Amino acid sequence: MKNIKYYAFPSTAKEAVALLLNKKYKAMALAGGTLVAKTLPDTVETYLDIRNVPIKGIKLQGGNLVIGAGATFDEIDRSKLCRGWAGGVISAAAAKCSSQLIRNMATIGGNIARPHSFNIFPVVLLGLDAKVRLAVRSGAKLTDLPGLYAANLGLRPGLDCLITEIIIPAKTKKWRCEFIKLAKTESSWESYIKLFFSLEKKGKAVQSRICVGALSPKPFRALSTEAAIAAGAAPEACAAAFAAELEAARAGDYRSAAASSLLRRFLEAVK
Ligand SMILES: Cc1cc2nc3c(=O)[nH]c(=O)nc-3n(C[C@H](O)[C@H](O)[C@H](O)COP(=O)(O)OP(=O)(O)OC[C@H]3O[C@@H](n4cnc5c(N)ncnc54)[C@H](O)[C@@H]3O)c2cc1C
Repeated sequence: MKNIKYYAFPSTAKEAVALLLNKKYKAMALAGGTLVAKTLPDTVETYLDIRNVPIKGIKLQGGNLVIGAGATFDEIDRSKLCRGWAGGVISAAAAKCSSQLIRNMATIGGNIARPHSFNIFPVVLLGLDAKVRLAVRSGAKLTDLPGLYAANLGLRPGLDCLITEIIIPAKTKKWRCEFIKLAKTESSWESYIKLFFSLEKKGKAVQSRICVGALSPKPFRALSTEAAIAAGAAPEACAAAFAAELEAARAGDYRSAAASSLLRRFLEAVK
């Protein structure tokens, strides 16, 4: 923080990206400031405050749910559109963020900009097949969540590009979903494990997303478990497949046992 020389308030995403790319300023984006204030690299000389960039709205577009990167956890929690989507899982997840003070300030863009084990939205957005729109030098770029964290993206959100929107595809609107933060207390940021489950039936076909966060900075899908669910295995067998995947991911006995029980409970509730 001691190296900060300039403070900038761009009013468009284009202006913000131009300032980020201008080597003279050594700028970093600041949204809610809940994380960046604690983790600011010494090399940064300009706070690029993006509060005036119009990326806060939550809307429907072409049947998709579009959440502006500047929307706070509290706005997402209270949004009627989010509460009405996929059984309200997006709002329910936002409400699990540690405290009302943080929910008032922290944004979804800041939450996904860097992979972090304990962050809520990466695992939820992975499970909802979300796309992320970036403002970049040449205009806009669309990626999915794994793509945002892939080395070959060649971009560093907040340093040379801006996340502007998160797009939740229309197909997920009626999915039956659950987000679970298994933690010591409801107000902990840290958790033993974060889980996102979804299930959708179309005729005899069953499709699911079983996603795991908190074991590593990047969340992952439990693909063998999803395959067992698609094959029509009983909840008990799906839970056993999940426990085996978690053990292979070095989750340890407690997390594997607890998470597989939670999956069995979810599958029994939605069958
Ligand atoms: C006490 C405390 C408790 C917390 N509890 C939780 C919790 O329970 N759950 C949880 O998930 N997180 C939690 N966090 C972590 C943090 O607050 C969140 O990750 C938050 O969402 C960050 O958002 P922000 O708007 O404050 O980002 P900032 O702090 O402003 O920025 C964080 C990073 O994201 C980049 N960035 C921000 N917006 C954009 C954008 N639009 N485009 C590109 N880059 C961007 C910044 O450059 C910076 O690198 C907690 C933090 C604290 C300090």
